[in-house]
Amino acid sequence: MKVHLTKRLEEVAKFVSNDAILADIGSDHAFLPCYLVQEKRISKAYAGEVIVGPYNQSKKSVEEYSLQDYVFPILSDGLENIPNDTTEITIAGMGAYTILEILNAYPDKVKSYNKIILQANSHMELIREYISNANYSIIDESIVYDKGKYYEICVFNTNMGRKLSEDEILYGPVLLDKQSDTFIKYYEYLINLKENVLTNLNSDHSKYASLTSEIQKLRSILKR
Ligand code: SAM
Repeated sequence: MKVHLTKRLEEVAKFVSNDAILADIGSDHAFLPCYLVQEKRISKAYAGEVIVGPYNQSKKSVEEYSLQDYVFPILSDGLENIPNDTTEITIAGMGAYTILEILNAYPDKVKSYNKIILQANSHMELIREYISNANYSIIDESIVYDKGKYYEICVFNTNMGRKLSEDEILYGPVLLDKQSDTFIKYYEYLINLKENVLTNLNSDHSKYASLTSEIQKLRSILKR
C-alpha cells in the first residue's frame, strides 16, 4: 500500500535530502517519513509526536506500511527525545509560534542539523525573522496551493547568514527572487481581495489610505 501525501506535504518532502536521517516533528500519522522511505529517498526516520493519540497513529501507519525497520515513532515534546543521529528535521502543519517554541527550546540540537525544513500554516514572516536574527541561512523557499489555501515552506541551515531586509522577512528572499507562478497568483489574489474592499469604501474612510498603500506595496513586490 502506497502513502498518499497532500500537495502541501509533497512540497515539504521535496526538500529532504536523499539519505538524510530525518526527524519529522509533529508527525501525526507519520505520513511524511513513511512516504520518503517508500520512495527510497531515505532509509531511516523518526516520527516525533507530543500527544499519545497521534503517536499511536504513527505506530499504526508504520505497521500498516510494514516500515518498522525504517520509521521509528517517538513520543517527544519537540526535539526533546529526538536521537542525535538525526541529520535533518521537518516541522509542518503547525502555527509559527509553536514551531518557534520547538526550535528555541533546543538551540544546540537545531545547530546540529544539516537542514531544517519548516512549513507554518501562517506567519511565516516570524520564522524568517527568527532565522535572520540568529544569523542563519535560508537555503530555499517554496509556496504551494493546496485545497484552497496557500502554504509557504522555508528551508534553512545554521551556517552564518546575513540579516534579511524587511521585505525579505515579510515575503521571503528566495520567493521574492524566484517569482514563481504560485507566488504571483497568491499576491494577485491578495491584491484583488484588498481592491474589492477598497471599491466599497469612500476615500475619506479611515482605512482607505492604509489599504491603498498596502495594495501599492504588494504590487511593487511583483516583478511581472
Ligand atoms: N506534520 C503533519 C502535517 O503537516 O500534516 C501533521 C500536522 S498536525 C496539524 C500537528 C501535529 O503536531 C499534531 O499531531 C500535534 O500533536 C503535533 N505537535 C504539536 N506540538 C508539538 C510538539 N511540541 N512536539 C511534537 N509534536 C507536536
